[in-house]
Amino acid sequence: MDDREAIRGEEALDEWQPVEGMRIVPAETLFEGGLASFPDYWEHEQVLYCEDEASGLKSYLSIHSTVLGPCLGGCRMFPYASDREALTDALRLSLAMSYKHAVVDIAHGGAKAVIIGDPRTDKTPELFRAFGRFVDALGGAYITGEDLGTSIEDVRIIGETTSYIAGLPLEDGGSGDPSSVTAYGVFCAIQASIAYTRGNPYNPKAGLPDIAVAVQGLGHVGWSVAEHLHAAGARLIVCDIDAAKVARAQEELGAEAVGVDEIYDVEADVFAPCALGGVLNADTVARLRTPIVAGSADNQLADERVPRMLQVMGILYAPDYVANGGGVINVSYEGEGYSVEKALQHTEHIGRTLIEIFHTAEREGMTTAAVADRMAGERLAPRH
Ligand code: NAD
Repeated sequence: MDDREAIRGEEALDEWQPVEGMRIVPAETLFEGGLASFPDYWEHEQVLYCEDEASGLKSYLSIHSTVLGPCLGGCRMFPYASDREALTDALRLSLAMSYKHAVVDIAHGGAKAVIIGDPRTDKTPELFRAFGRFVDALGGAYITGEDLGTSIEDVRIIGETTSYIAGLPLEDGGSGDPSSVTAYGVFCAIQASIAYTRGNPYNPKAGLPDIAVAVQGLGHVGWSVAEHLHAAGARLIVCDIDAAKVARAQEELGAEAVGVDEIYDVEADVFAPCALGGVLNADTVARLRTPIVAGSADNQLADERVPRMLQVMGILYAPDYVANGGGVINVSYEGEGYSVEKALQHTEHIGRTLIEIFHTAEREGMTTAAVADRMAGERLAPRH
């Protein structure tokens, strides 16, 4: 990735450039007990706090790991109740990004920035320009983008004071909306899961004429997943809180509609959660009538007992952050020579990674979620 390639390894993070009028300090110094007092602290490389009086910016930046390359991670804006809550979010999310990047094999570490403020009332151009100066002070070790509470418009403003931004629309030289590439990755995850359970080789181009998939959520990703499945010949059973999307799926994709609470009881080959996080819990897993779970939703597991429950019930779980990795793969091809074809080709690799995870889990009696975490952890171990 252009000159960002040069910014690798620990040396990039030893220091940051001071910015006039701005207070940038290690977050470590601000909390009694330091970062070790945060349960979500896991040897993050650099955790900073930035305050800019003129614009009112208060931001935490958590850089988890630059072992694989400069860190990618969006900037979230949220009215956190406390600084501790804000930093906890940044620590947790940056670790998750590192794991996702490692397992889908992109040359980026994971980071996350949070701005403390209400996105409905506290946004100003000055605030985002100040945030851009903060990002710029890291010299490229951190590349920011859109996240909850921030928009592409906000990222454009951040881009006035730093070039270390990602995810702009194609016409602005970015990689555009990642949803369709994310959806293709989920489709590949479904193909791989079906191939594995049937003892067939993984082939993302294979038809799925005898397969039924229950799709929860027909938003940006879910709709596109449903289109891929329909094109491959699969039968669809769908739900969404938006009745218009369901009606369109019935009409255009021949889908069968069920209520939002009935989706867990559908007898099918795959359950594809593509709406909300936390949908796999003791109650819903006990109801599932599908031998496979593979979908795009982030943080599908309501708690850490769920992977074992799925395993005991004989349900093959494609870990969420592997199945939905197409979006970050897409962004990683940003820069000179972005091509959606290259991103899609890399995304097909998600299926191969899942097959490896499934085999390892079966061989070692582990859950697929634990194998994915271990795989990511091994790739993130500092190289000597
Ligand atoms: P979206 O907001 O476009 O779509 C979500 C859809 O779910 C909407 O159609 C909404 O009406 C529906 N929905 C909400 N509650 C529901 C419920 N209880 N039951 C059924 N449907 C419900 O979001 P998206 O971009 O398609 O993302 C979907 C999921 O995938 C999210 O969890 C997101 O974090 C995750 N994800 C998305 C991307 C991406 O590239 N967009 C990348 C990685 C992960």
